[in-house]
Amino acid sequence: MLDLLIKNAEIITMDDAAPIISDGVVGISGGKLEFVSEFLPDSYAGARRVIDARGNIVMPGLINTHTHTAMCVLRGFADDYRLNEWLFEKIFPVEARLTREAVVAGVRLGIAEMLASGTTSYSDMYSNEPASAEVVAETGIKANLSNGVIALSDDFVFENDRAWRELTTLAKNWHGAANGRIRADAAIHAEYTSPPWVWEKEHAIAAEYGLVTHIHLQETEKETEECRQRHGGLSPAEMFLKHGIFDTPVLAAHCVHLSETDMRILAEKHVTAAHCPVSNLKLASGIANIRSMIAHGINVSLGTDGCASNNNHDLFEEIKLAALLSKGTTLDPTAIPAYEALKLATVNGAKAQGRENETGRLKAGFDADLIMLDVHAPHLQPVHSPAALAAYSCRGSDVCLTMVQGKVLYEKGEYKTIDIERAIREVHELAVPLVR
Ligand SMILES: [Zn+2]
Repeated sequence: MLDLLIKNAEIITMDDAAPIISDGVVGISGGKLEFVSEFLPDSYAGARRVIDARGNIVMPGLINTHTHTAMCVLRGFADDYRLNEWLFEKIFPVEARLTREAVVAGVRLGIAEMLASGTTSYSDMYSNEPASAEVVAETGIKANLSNGVIALSDDFVFENDRAWRELTTLAKNWHGAANGRIRADAAIHAEYTSPPWVWEKEHAIAAEYGLVTHIHLQETEKETEECRQRHGGLSPAEMFLKHGIFDTPVLAAHCVHLSETDMRILAEKHVTAAHCPVSNLKLASGIANIRSMIAHGINVSLGTDGCASNNNHDLFEEIKLAALLSKGTTLDPTAIPAYEALKLATVNGAKAQGRENETGRLKAGFDADLIMLDVHAPHLQPVHSPAALAAYSCRGSDVCLTMVQGKVLYEKGEYKTIDIERAIREVHELAVPLVR
């Protein structure tokens, strides 16, 4: 007896062996995918719940590989500034005032937004991550959590720093917790916010616990050029390489201003580039050349970045924009086809998180992390190609069901693990007064 059977579905498996299954079935048991196929297997002996998809699209849950979830409390607070002014004069001072309760309220709201728009796993970099881990455990989503170390003063002591304390707590208490839904990531905020000796300490912890290291990399031209001036012509990527940071898996957000050498380094060291097209456009940082990155063999995933620079967590916007920007900047409409664009937010995201054998594809034995897109709206008819529809026509609001490890967390406007009215009220009570 299965826990759940989904029938009459247009399935985008993201498994290259059979990428699209028309009018197919998905069987789920014990949080895992039992089968993803055209017909019911002979062994089928009923299911506790049967969902008739009525031709809706079923696909892997999306993976947001770069965000600062709690920043949704800053949505619309500081827009239309230059990155340096935005970060140092607007964002950092407010963030210094945010309490643990304010961050927790923001994380819960951000997770609600992600679940409702089809995200089943995210990579976060922020403060109060052990408290965020409790919200991740309670809401049922998956997350790689990190607190990026920032060391701007000369008397910085790594072992007294909050980022170090949070990282060790995450690594010891939360890595692999909640049935593997939570993973700890090490994190270096960026080349320009800490010295090499601090990176090396962070890297040592990543190596000790087997963690991915989440960083910001070459988001702006200024960041890249100032690094070259400080370090005898070396770029941030060359500096991280020199200090051994790429010797363990690295997830590098942005990668907008990469040289040919930088691209070769990232490819050779298997660094994932988390492309954040909306954030890069909004902060006018530039447009990352993901076609060239992919041609170099770099794993490219997608991120929304925080909601203060996006201003939402809707990965469908990033999928479409990633494909369109690539086409527009190369003058080649074949640059990133629809299916490739979907890969960025699924298969490649899973790889970025160290979850490539667990999620990102609908395949027997994988976790049942999936979403359903209601295609009965006018803007989604007719369905000639499920992949083109998902990549170019769908919005986050077309998601009608979100499931992680076989558990339905969101269905037709209803949150199964979040009291949404309370979540919004808490953001207004606990966070908004500290922002203004
Ligand atoms: Zn960021």
